[in-house]
Amino acid sequence: MEACNNYYYATRDPLGRDGDFTTAPEISQMFGELVGAALADCWTRAERPADAIYVELGPGRGSLAADALRVLRSAGFAGGVHLVETSPVLRALQAERVSDAHWHDAVEDLSAAPLLLVANEFFDALPIRQFVSGIERRVEVIGDGLAFDRDGEIVEQSPAREQAVSAIATCLVQCGGVALVIDYGHERSAPGDTLQAVRGHRYVPTLIDSGEQDLTSHVDFEALRRAASEAGAKVTPVVTQGDWLKRLGIGARAASLATANPERIPELEKAVDRLCHEEQMGQLFKVMAIHSPDWPAPTGFEA
Ligand code: SAH
Repeated sequence: MEACNNYYYATRDPLGRDGDFTTAPEISQMFGELVGAALADCWTRAERPADAIYVELGPGRGSLAADALRVLRSAGFAGGVHLVETSPVLRALQAERVSDAHWHDAVEDLSAAPLLLVANEFFDALPIRQFVSGIERRVEVIGDGLAFDRDGEIVEQSPAREQAVSAIATCLVQCGGVALVIDYGHERSAPGDTLQAVRGHRYVPTLIDSGEQDLTSHVDFEALRRAASEAGAKVTPVVTQGDWLKRLGIGARAASLATANPERIPELEKAVDRLCHEEQMGQLFKVMAIHSPDWPAPTGFEA
């Protein structure tokens, strides 16, 4: 999974209508603006540390960073921008949107500073391992194709995700800050095979055309919570993307954009629906925040 995704992302821009899948920041500027507002509010209540940096993991085309930073800058945030991205193709697109960024290969390479961090659809692309009755399931070459070596009830684990969360949480505990994790997945660990492949906006079999289609799996937020807590960070409850965006004021933001640009009303209504409706991204996508014990919890996660 790691090798396939490294190749996949290194060789293309997979996002948008002509690509393989569309993400929330590509649907509407409102998504990134509300992320920026949530981070700006947290930073302000933490007494605006001047050395705080904006960090994004897997920033895609840089749309979320550009929209969030517009709001953060207008709130007075003047800190640096650090993007964790391995794909040279996507780094080039990000440079067009965010000219003053610094790039890193891994979370562990970030400098020590208070973090305003966001990861949207990053963790789902990190590799998982699958176990059947406690034995790891492997992929075999059979003829000229690939096949799994065993079937049965599957339990998934992702050491790569836990390691990334641990590194972020350790950083938050040492230097302060907040991290927003937004992804599709489940609040509680449960058995099940969630590995999936997507190409051209369709589900396709996972073991064909390796490296030419997007391989992801559902994020186990309980496992992330455990890794963050063990490193000493605080973790908020998990809320659905729909509830979170509504609490952050997506309705008001859409109304104000609509007043300024009445011709955009149909597009704005469609975007709110795609981001928030429970049959679209509103329910499957979840949001959780990790923060340092001496920073306030971000808004939008109240029980
Ligand atoms: N956050 C963006 C893009 C999501 S696609 C959006 O919401 O539109 C996943 C992103 O993570 C891509 O930018 C991809 O290149 C990056 N990525 C995947 N695996 C990575 C890894 N191991 N290290 C760093 N970046 C990675």
